[in-house]
Amino acid sequence: MIRKFLKRVFGKSAKIKSAGNSKVIPFELHGVARLQISYGALKVTDGLQAAGFKAYVVGGAVRDLLLKRIPKDFDVATNATPEEVRRLFRRSRIIGRRFRLVHVMFGEDIVEVSTFRSMIEAVDAQTDEHGRLLRDNQFGDQEQDAARRDFTANALFYDPSSQDIYDYHEGYADTRNSVLRMIGPPEVRYREDPVRMLRAVRLSAKLGMQIYSDTAKPIFALKGLLDNVPQARLLDEVLKMLLSGHSVECIHKLREMDLHHGLLPLLDVILEQPMGEKFVLLALRNTDERLSQEKTVSPAFLFASLLWHEVLAAWNIRVEQGERPVGAMHAAMDEVLGRQKAQLAIPHRHDAVMKEIWLLQQRFSQRSGQRPFRLLEQPRFRAAYDFLLLRCASGEVEEELGLWWDEFQSANAERQAEMLQPEQAGDKKRRRKPRKKPVLTDVPA
Ligand code: ATP
Ligand code: MG
Repeated sequence: MIRKFLKRVFGKSAKIKSAGNSKVIPFELHGVARLQISYGALKVTDGLQAAGFKAYVVGGAVRDLLLKRIPKDFDVATNATPEEVRRLFRRSRIIGRRFRLVHVMFGEDIVEVSTFRSMIEAVDAQTDEHGRLLRDNQFGDQEQDAARRDFTANALFYDPSSQDIYDYHEGYADTRNSVLRMIGPPEVRYREDPVRMLRAVRLSAKLGMQIYSDTAKPIFALKGLLDNVPQARLLDEVLKMLLSGHSVECIHKLREMDLHHGLLPLLDVILEQPMGEKFVLLALRNTDERLSQEKTVSPAFLFASLLWHEVLAAWNIRVEQGERPVGAMHAAMDEVLGRQKAQLAIPHRHDAVMKEIWLLQQRFSQRSGQRPFRLLEQPRFRAAYDFLLLRCASGEVEEELGLWWDEFQSANAERQAEMLQPEQAGDKKRRRKPRKKPVLTDVPA
C-alpha cells in the first residue's frame, strides 16, 4: 500500500535497488537528507569524492538519523589510505597505532575518517586463546568493511551526494524495526571482541532497541571473557555508558543480563546497600538529566558519587576507632581509591577533583564564623554543593542543610550575617600566635 503510494508520488526511484551484494535505499524511502549531515563530514565526503575516492558517512550517525535522533558525531569511511586523506585536508592528522585513522578538524568539530578495513577471515587473523582479535589492521573494500562492523544498524553507508544508503546486512530493516542484530555468528563476534557485549547493552539502552534473541543468547555464557579485556578499554566503555544520557537504563540492563559483576565492582558493593543504591541511582539520574539539558558532566564528579558510600563506610570505621574526622577522611579516600584502582582503572587524573569534592563535604556542616564564606570561595564549591544536594536527596543528610546553602550562596551580606549559626561551645577557635612586632630599621639614605 505504502509502496504503491510512494511509487505514485516519486516514480521509479522509490524502489530499493541493488549494487553487488548491497541494497541501495534511495532518499525517498529512508528520508535522511544531505542537509542533516554536519558541515565537516560533508566537506570530507565531498573532498574525497572530488579527488576520485569513495566516501560515505557510516556507523552511529546513519543509524541515529534513521531513528530520528541527533548523532553525537559523524564518522566517514573511504577507500583512500590515511596518507591520501591526510594530503587532501590541511587541518588533519593521522592517529592510532592499531588501526590508523585520520582526524580532520573543522573548528571544534572533528571528523574521524577511517579507511575500509578488511574482513577478519581475509587476513590470517591473530587471536588469543579465547578468540579475541589481537590484530585487525588490514585495508579492505566497502563490503568487507561492512562485515567487520558489529551490528547491522551500525553498518550502513550513506552517500551525501546521491543521498543513497548502502546496506549489506539488512541493517535498514533492522533499524526501522528497532532491532539490534549482530553481523555474522554472534558467539564468534563476541569472542573476537567481548566489548561488543557491552556495546549491545549500551546501544539498546540508549536507543530503545531490542537485542535480537540470537544476538542476546550467547552473552550469558560468554560474559567471563570481559575479564580478558584490557582495563583501559573496559573503563572507556563503562564511561560511555555512564555518560550516554541513559546511564540508569544501562545499569538496569547490565544487571538484568548479569553483566555488572566484575565489570563495575564498585556497583557490586554499592548496589547492595540500600542507601548506596539510592545515592548512585540519583547521581546517575542527575547525570542523565544534565546531559539532556546539554549541560556538562564531569567524569570525576560521577566517580566521586559512585565511590562515596565506600568512602563513607571506610571513614565511619576509622572515626569509630577514634581517628580524628579530617585525618580519617584522608585515609578513607586513599584506601577506597587504592582498592578501586586494582579493579577498575579509574585514571589518576581524576583523583584530585574527587578528593576535593569529598573533603569539602565535611565543611558544609560548619555554618558559623568565617567558615561558610571561605567555603564559598573554594574553586570546587559548585561541584561540592551539587554533590551535597545528592546526599540530601538520598536521605543521607538533612534536606535543611542543602536548603541553607542554597539560600546562603545567593543571599546579600545582611541576610548572610543573619543566617550564620552561633559558634558552638565545641568549636575550637584557632589561637593565633602573637605577631612579632616588626623591627623598625633605619632606611639607608
Ligand atoms: P555512538 O553513538 O556511541 O557513537 P557508534 O555506533 O557510532 O555509537 P562508535 O564507537 O563511534 O559507536 O563506533 C563507530 C562505528 O564503528 C560503529 O557504528 C560500528 O560500525 C563500528 N564499531 C565500533 N566498535 C566496534 C566493535 N567493537 N566491533 C565492531 N565494530 C565496531
Ligand atoms: Mg560514533
